[in-house]
Amino acid sequence: MSANRRDFIKFVVAGAVAAGCPIDLSLIAKAEGANDNSSAEVDGEDNRICHQVRDGKVFTRPPASARHDVVIVGGGVSGLAAAYRLQHRDFLLLEKEPHWGGNAYAMEYDGCVYGTGSAFTTKDEYAYRFAKEIGLTPLPVNSPDGSIIRSEFIPDTWGDGLDKLPYPAPVRESFKKFRKEMIAIEVEKRGKELFNLPFSDFLKDYPQELKQWWDNFGPSNWGAASEQTAAGLAILSLQEMVGESREDDRYTWPGGLGAVTKKLAEVLSPNHKNRMLTGATIVAVVPASQEVQVTYMLSGELRTVAAKAVIMATPKFITRRVIDGLPQALSDAMNQIRYIPYPVVNLIFDKPVFNRGYDTWCPGNTFTDFIVADWVVQKHPGYKQKFNILSCYTPMPEQDRSELLTEDGARGIAERVLRDFQKLMPETNVDPVEVHIYRRGHPMYMSAPRLYTEIQPLVRRPMDRVFFANTDSEGPVSTTNSGILAAQRAVRQVEARLAGRPAPKEKAAAG
Ligand SMILES: Cc1cc2nc3c(=O)[nH]c(=O)nc-3n(C[C@H](O)[C@H](O)[C@H](O)COP(=O)(O)OP(=O)(O)OC[C@H]3O[C@@H](n4cnc5c(N)ncnc54)[C@H](O)[C@@H]3O)c2cc1C
Repeated sequence: MSANRRDFIKFVVAGAVAAGCPIDLSLIAKAEGANDNSSAEVDGEDNRICHQVRDGKVFTRPPASARHDVVIVGGGVSGLAAAYRLQHRDFLLLEKEPHWGGNAYAMEYDGCVYGTGSAFTTKDEYAYRFAKEIGLTPLPVNSPDGSIIRSEFIPDTWGDGLDKLPYPAPVRESFKKFRKEMIAIEVEKRGKELFNLPFSDFLKDYPQELKQWWDNFGPSNWGAASEQTAAGLAILSLQEMVGESREDDRYTWPGGLGAVTKKLAEVLSPNHKNRMLTGATIVAVVPASQEVQVTYMLSGELRTVAAKAVIMATPKFITRRVIDGLPQALSDAMNQIRYIPYPVVNLIFDKPVFNRGYDTWCPGNTFTDFIVADWVVQKHPGYKQKFNILSCYTPMPEQDRSELLTEDGARGIAERVLRDFQKLMPETNVDPVEVHIYRRGHPMYMSAPRLYTEIQPLVRRPMDRVFFANTDSEGPVSTTNSGILAAQRAVRQVEARLAGRPAPKEKAAAG
């Protein structure tokens, strides 16, 4: 693509970068001022308050002006699901963004929906049943993942595709040997051991092409390359992909799982609108013996509410900064969870460019894979594709996070994604009408060894009247499903606490 052609493409930069996180404030100031000479549009959250919390500012805490049974902090899928289960209670749900959804949030371009984060759930996950319960009909993906390798599209990579990989025969054979060996591993029997080992231990004796494939797949799905991945998780994931039935059990909606958070907000709003506040950033959670005080900033004003219980559905890197008196051991455990920066770049084409599979893996590029936004409705009778929107998943190493801070940096990433996409195959060398990048600084925790077995059980332990939801409490991988399960566990704990009963025993993956 020539510089001239590129100049005509509009780049739109949106989304959160540094939500209450360890990034220098002066960089943010620069990012906010950087709009002047650029053609990119900027729309996104304001993290100034979170940064002040991070930097140790103690805000004035006005006396409580209202009392509730439960305050829920964070309006991602976990906070929304908690509110859904607490409709019989006097709850207050607080979200800092102007919209609900967190990392499961869909946007629209000229009436066409596209994802900015969470993409699909599987039929065996509780999220599938939950979606039905709130009134959504899950749509089948029914398209085993292909890969684009050396300019060739290989359908069903880990099925028949292994025979077609454009590699020398010994490399193809290694892929097959690896698949066979991984299928033979009894993960359930060896569970804990496998979740404490790095996946790279299992790739040592294989050619680098295999490692490259997994170092592309891992960051997209669980935020980590093979050295930082809990082996049990990667092995299970392969076993699911090549399972005996070979049935694709993934379900979604146009634009992904943002459909679930949108629906939750729609279901809750009619009866609970005045108990659901967006644009409300929590700056302090102060537990006392009879109640917990929660102070938040809304429209530039600080307010405090008191609650009998609080559910923190925020990620732990934020949670640990706002709770007063958090025990050191709990704070240290929360601090061990690592999060990657993970923007999603949507390429919007006004003509069909790629509709050959739902999710296609592209090792060796700036992005890991791309999803066809309207895949699950394409075969619906009467459906006509207006725009071919391709969502390019672009997980980044932690050390590159600062690139997202400036508009130029974010635009640079989007440009590299577009350049790599156009080089994939001759058919993808087409100019989009717009390129949208939704940047997120810390949206996905890394499923590292010991996280699931040792750290997550610690970080979900309640602190008297304060309870911990969010997907990062649950594991083994960051999913909408685990966000919902974390919420439901927290709700059970809250109900027990309010009834003066002992905390219920934790059930694994309880619905
Ligand atoms: C690119 C990407 C792709 C993904 N793909 C999938 C997928 O295909 N399938 C799947 O199941 N999962 C996927 N995930 C993971 C999934 O999106 C998350 O696990 C899930 O959305 C987490 O929901 P949550 O409510 O636990 O947390 P979040 O979504 O992090 O919600 C937390 C909320 O708290 C708010 N908040 C933070 N601080 C404050 C404060 N101080 N005051 C008030 N509010 C605050 C935030 O704004 C946010 O809305 C993906 C994630 C990413 C980033």
